[in-house]
Amino acid sequence: MSLIVQKYGGTSVGSVERIQAVAAKVKQSRDAGHQVVVVVSAMSGETDRLLGLAHALQERPSPRELDVLLSTGEQVTIALLSMALEAGGCPARSYTGSQVQVRTDSAHNKARIRDIDGARVRADLDAGRVVVVAGFQGIDEQGNITTLGRGGSDTSAVAMAAALKADECQIYTDVDGVYTTDPRIEPKARRLARITFEEMLEMASLGSKVLQIRAVEFAGKYQVPLRVLSSFQDGEGTLITFEEGNVEEAKIAGIAFAKDEAKLTVLGVPDQPGVAHKILGPISDANVEVDMIIQNIAADARTTDFTFTIHRNDYGRALEILQSTAQDLGAREVQGDERIVKISLVGVGMRSHAGIASGMFEALAREGINIRMISTSEIKISVVIDEKYLELGVRALHDAFGLSDAS
Ligand code: ADP
Ligand code: ASP
Ligand code: MG
Repeated sequence: MSLIVQKYGGTSVGSVERIQAVAAKVKQSRDAGHQVVVVVSAMSGETDRLLGLAHALQERPSPRELDVLLSTGEQVTIALLSMALEAGGCPARSYTGSQVQVRTDSAHNKARIRDIDGARVRADLDAGRVVVVAGFQGIDEQGNITTLGRGGSDTSAVAMAAALKADECQIYTDVDGVYTTDPRIEPKARRLARITFEEMLEMASLGSKVLQIRAVEFAGKYQVPLRVLSSFQDGEGTLITFEEGNVEEAKIAGIAFAKDEAKLTVLGVPDQPGVAHKILGPISDANVEVDMIIQNIAADARTTDFTFTIHRNDYGRALEILQSTAQDLGAREVQGDERIVKISLVGVGMRSHAGIASGMFEALAREGINIRMISTSEIKISVVIDEKYLELGVRALHDAFGLSDAS
């Protein structure tokens, strides 16, 4: 008998009918002889709705109270799914994060799981029940409710699978696997039968929201076999594999993109030691995460131009901070651009293939797309371009690297 953790996302539990369909799927696994733990998200749109209510009352609600509020979405779906299972003749019991004891740190709204007490869940499984656990939530040392950041139910599922030493963690969602790029942007995107853990980690951190990045990190750390599948149709889905040898012989596994970026530039900063620190220090002190950074010597050779990207949500705050820094440093000008996006090519095959970068730049040039920033690492190349070219850029690259053709 094997133990499987199945996670169902918001769309998959978005209505009573869909919850019934999930219950049928879960029952099928149990009838096939598996022990099943189910982790669920809130019904689609619910977390956003709750956020809307909070912001209608307060511009910056307390992170603690937000967690008390947001965790209710998942509490609804665990109860409903358990009822649907029981109605279908499948014994089930639901638990919130605090009932299981999903213990996290105290970083409200982005808490990290420290450990999970599997005792209660195991006892139910041994008694023949399906256990339904609320995703996205935990409890800190003081007993406060915490949540794990948007998309966090993926991480709950992988962490639960690690804690219970499950045979597989299955992420059921509204696509039937991990694709070469988001199929909503490129209809010719192709499902990957396998992707390496390393590639999945890059894809997730570069903007592919099909899996939350921490879920992939967790799977790597605890070697949890992870598969992405469709809630709506049968199939093999995509296996996240730890063996590079078995992966398709492609140079590029996929294209990720991040729509929510913004760019800030300070022009004509006196070129002296410590400038980068003086510019970025106050930004990081304000808890704004910086992504790409470029520094260029200006034409007069005495000043420097400094550009960096941040999350779009932080744009206003970061612009204000930079304007004050620029004044202190005697810089000439601050420029900002909120309408940029980042597109990245990801693939372990890049290690052994040259010319990927030039192929990328050529494909974008052919479409008249101007590259504003570039950054590379061993298995990825990212470019920043204007937002209006996002779809065109993704599709051009998808074609240029032959990702549409079945290989
Ligand atoms: P869930 O609610 O089940 O967690 P998400 O919306 O978080 O679902 O993730 C699934 C979505 O991820 C898909 O609908 C798809 O639009 C998007 N996505 C982005 N990149 C990819 C990719 N490379 N492969 C598959 N889906 C992707
Ligand atoms: N309900 C949470 C969200 O919308 C967690 C999740 O769905 O994974 O982000
Ligand atoms: Mg998700």
